[in-house]
Amino acid sequence: MFFCALGKICNYETDRHRGGENVREARRTEVIVVGAGLAGLSAALALYDRGIDVIVLEAQSRVGGKVLSVVEDGVTVDYGAQWISPHQPRMKALLARFGLTTVPTFAKGDALYVLRGDRMRGNGDRPPLGWTGKLDLFRIRRKLDKLAGTIDPGAPWKSAAAPELDALTMETWLEKAAFSTAAKSFCRAVAEEGLCARLSEVSMLDVLWDYVSAGGVDKLMTAEDEWIAGGTQQLPAKMAERLGDAVRPDNAVRTIRWGGGQVTAYTDREAWTGRRAIVAIPPTFTNRIAYEPPLPPDRDQLCQRIGQGAVIKFVLVYDTPFWRERGWSGSAYGETGPIQTVLDGTEPGQRLGVLAAMANGGHARRLGRLGKEERKTEVLRSLARFVGEKALEPVAVYEKDWSADPWIRGGYGGRFAPGVLSEFGPSLLEPVGPIHWAGAETATVWRMYMEGALQSGERAAEEVARALEAERPAGGSAARITR
Ligand SMILES: Cc1cc2nc3c(=O)[nH]c(=O)nc-3n(C[C@H](O)[C@H](O)[C@H](O)COP(=O)(O)OP(=O)(O)OC[C@H]3O[C@@H](n4cnc5c(N)ncnc54)[C@H](O)[C@@H]3O)c2cc1C
Repeated sequence: MFFCALGKICNYETDRHRGGENVREARRTEVIVVGAGLAGLSAALALYDRGIDVIVLEAQSRVGGKVLSVVEDGVTVDYGAQWISPHQPRMKALLARFGLTTVPTFAKGDALYVLRGDRMRGNGDRPPLGWTGKLDLFRIRRKLDKLAGTIDPGAPWKSAAAPELDALTMETWLEKAAFSTAAKSFCRAVAEEGLCARLSEVSMLDVLWDYVSAGGVDKLMTAEDEWIAGGTQQLPAKMAERLGDAVRPDNAVRTIRWGGGQVTAYTDREAWTGRRAIVAIPPTFTNRIAYEPPLPPDRDQLCQRIGQGAVIKFVLVYDTPFWRERGWSGSAYGETGPIQTVLDGTEPGQRLGVLAAMANGGHARRLGRLGKEERKTEVLRSLARFVGEKALEPVAVYEKDWSADPWIRGGYGGRFAPGVLSEFGPSLLEPVGPIHWAGAETATVWRMYMEGALQSGERAAEEVARALEAERPAGGSAARITR
């Protein structure tokens, strides 16, 4: 009995590790894409548009990854990515291609700030700081832009200042660069939200890479200027619709084996062989796949060192957008948390008022350890510090802890601690045999944003298309395989 049970366990382990290798014969395609987030879908669509046969293997039963919209009691709730900048051409073009429109983020009235325990009103151009704080903030922004200007967004590890910047966390840099506690507090409130991590967890080189990839601090400040009417998930859903049955949900890739000019991906249900693969999942997750032969040491060591950050997004519905009547835009920023950023997510013409509130990094991790009711109480109290007691009376509260999602396990994207990018950075983008890498972490424009995810997919598709072209026998042309 004991040995029989042991045998079952061993067989199960083998099956789980090798995935569909034991249950199905591999089907053929030209390119295998792993992950149907925006990066994977963008890579697949770019190849499909060129007439190259492609399949997309997705672990979950839905597409979109960190993009997830659900209609809850008649309200569209965006649990994940929601906002875009007018300076994001790929998002704009793709939305237009699929007939989707954006709504400007409500910005009439003041933003609210809770800095060092005090509630203040202000806005992006008029931060609520005394004149020393304002002067200091101006200096900090100038320094950030100047430093970001020294970084090559295509290969930040090559920049002359990379070793020095990669030896610092943003916290140590800020402590040295700023002289006013008010300006430091303001910077912490804004930066921790974007990083989904404490400033003491993230390398300054990683932070500057974000800034330069977005086109500088001013452009980065426009990241939340618009949002997608009717829910962001319409975008990945339309992309997947275009790809048809090439998108294969409920197919977590467990093993990738390559050699002899081909690559095979095994899931628990299917196996696919192609000439190239694009792995479009966060680098941390790329290390949860078994590779045969194994990945080079530098690639594996890189992935061992990336933390995914943490975020819980709360969507709060009120009987009216009451903050607007009080002359507040609904935007709010705080250092002390647990809520650090709030934005108005009320659809135009909607009677109800909707606020989207984010707890990030250490705040998200602490809230995640509480029970649901305790967490809700803390979140409402935190919101009340921004918009007053009325915040305590929502009609509904929705939440998603993305660290608890087994296929996301973190925040907006992977973050690099000091020393990682300068030592292992090149392995982030370098293909391994026929395996190419995509995902918002590998973007060189708008890293960790939806725009970056799209660009990373396009870049990987371009690499693959070039490689296939180079390998094609003279006179041959691309042909879609009939399955
Ligand atoms: C709460 C939240 C709010 C955000 N807000 C914004 C915003 O307002 N604006 C913005 O631009 N960005 C925002 N972001 C960031 C944005 O969502 C991401 O940058 C982007 O969606 C990442 O896309 P991706 O395809 O690189 O990765 P992902 O979205 O993580 O997609 C990866 C996919 O791969 C799948 N997968 C993982 N492992 C496997 C495997 N072994 N086999 C098969 N499939 C696998 C996963 O299930 C997932 O579907 C937000 C993110 C979060 C979490």
